[in-house]
Amino acid sequence: MQLLLKQKKSGKATEHFPEFSDVQSLIASLQPNYSVYCVRPRVLEEAVKQFIAVFPGTVTYAVKCNPHPLIIDALYRAGIREFDVASESEVAQIHNTYRNAKTHFMHPVKSRAAIKSAYWNYGVRHFAIDHHNELEKILEETGGDDVVIMVRIKTPPSEGSLYHLAKKFGAEAEDAACLLREAVKFGCKAGITFHVGSQCIEPKAYGTALDTVGEVIERAGIAPVCIDVGGGFPVAYPGRDVPPLEDFMLEIKNGLNRIKVKPQVQILAEPGRALVASGCSLLTQVQLRKTDQLYINDGVYGGLSELLDSNNRLLAQVIRLDGSVSEELQEFYLGGPTCDSFDMLPSPLSLPTDIREGDWIEFDQVGAYSSALANRFNGFCSETFSIVYDDPQSYRTLSKQSSFS
Ligand SMILES: *Cc1c(COP(=O)(O)O)cnc(C)c1O
Repeated sequence: MQLLLKQKKSGKATEHFPEFSDVQSLIASLQPNYSVYCVRPRVLEEAVKQFIAVFPGTVTYAVKCNPHPLIIDALYRAGIREFDVASESEVAQIHNTYRNAKTHFMHPVKSRAAIKSAYWNYGVRHFAIDHHNELEKILEETGGDDVVIMVRIKTPPSEGSLYHLAKKFGAEAEDAACLLREAVKFGCKAGITFHVGSQCIEPKAYGTALDTVGEVIERAGIAPVCIDVGGGFPVAYPGRDVPPLEDFMLEIKNGLNRIKVKPQVQILAEPGRALVASGCSLLTQVQLRKTDQLYINDGVYGGLSELLDSNNRLLAQVIRLDGSVSEELQEFYLGGPTCDSFDMLPSPLSLPTDIREGDWIEFDQVGAYSSALANRFNGFCSETFSIVYDDPQSYRTLSKQSSFS
C-alpha cells in the first residue's frame, strides 16, 4: 500500500533517480568524484505554492530556467499546469510528459517549423511576437484559428534587475498597438506580455511596465484577452536585500487596477528563477589544494556560470565524511575543472582553514540557470541529479556555512 501510494504520487521521471534523506547520506553512499545536483522537491513545491497563493492569476513556469525532469515534476505536483516555452524541444518535452499541460510559445522569434509543429502537433495556441513579419509567419503556418497573439512590449531598463531582457526583444508602444490591431484584424485573439529583467529587485518595474500596457491598449483601442507580466521575480540570495513577493504582487494588482483591467481578462506570470533557485544545490568535491587555492570539479562552464555576471552570493557548506572540519575560516580562491584560466569563481569564498582534497563543498540555491547553461567543455559536464529530503533552511542555520565575501 505504501509503495502504491508512493508510485502514484511521484511523477514519471522521478522514479529513476536515487533518493537520500540528506546530503550526508548521499555522500556516504555515492562518494561522488563528480559534481551532483541535489534536488529538494519539498522546497520546490513550497516555492510554487507560495507563488500561486499570492499571484492574482495563472502561474506558468519558464522552462528554460531549469528544464530537468525532476524539477518540472516537482512543479507539476505542486500545481503548475502551464509552461512558458521557447523552442520546439521544450514544447515536446512538456506535452510528451504531461497530457493535460498547456504551453505558451513565448519566444518572439520562432522558426516556421517550430510554429507549425507547436500548433498542429501539440495544440499550442499562445504565440509571442514583437514584429509584424512574425505575425505573418504564425498566420501562414497555423491559419490563425483560435490563436492568441501575445504582443511583447519593450520595458525600460530596470535598475533593479540583473539582466535587462528588453534589450533584445519587445515592440515600442506605438508598434505594439499596431500589432495588436493587426492580430485582431486577421481573426486572432490578442494579449500583451513583457519581461522586466531577471532577478528584478524593484517592484515598481512591474507597475511601470503595466502603465505601458495601459498606453498600448489605449492606442490600439482593443482590449486584450490576457496580460502576461512575465518573469523576473527575485530570489533572496545571501546578502541581498530582496523585497517580499507580496510587494511585487501589490504593485501588479495596483498596476492592473490603474489600467482598469476587466475581470474576464486572464492574468499570467512566467516565473523561472523564483520557483526553482532554492530547490536545488550543487555538490562539488575538492580535487587539489594549493595554499589558498582550491580546484573543484564544477565551475563557470558548468553549474556555476551565473556567478560570473550576477554578483550573487551563494552559501556553501563543507562536508567531510570522516570527521568535522575546522571552525576557523579563511578565504579561498576556487577554480573549476577545465584547463581554462577563465574557469575561476569571481570572488573568494570563506571556508574552513583545514579544507583539503576529498572534502565536498555544497553550493546552495543553484536551481536557476545552472545545469541549463552548463556545457561540455574539456569533457566536464555533470548530469547527475539526486533527490534529497533534508531542509536546507535548517542546515543553513545549524551547520557551519560560508559565503562569498
Ligand atoms: C527567461 C524568461 C522568463 C523567466 O525569467 P525569470 O527571471 O527566471 O523569472 C520568463 N519569460 C520569458 C519570456 C523569458 O525569456
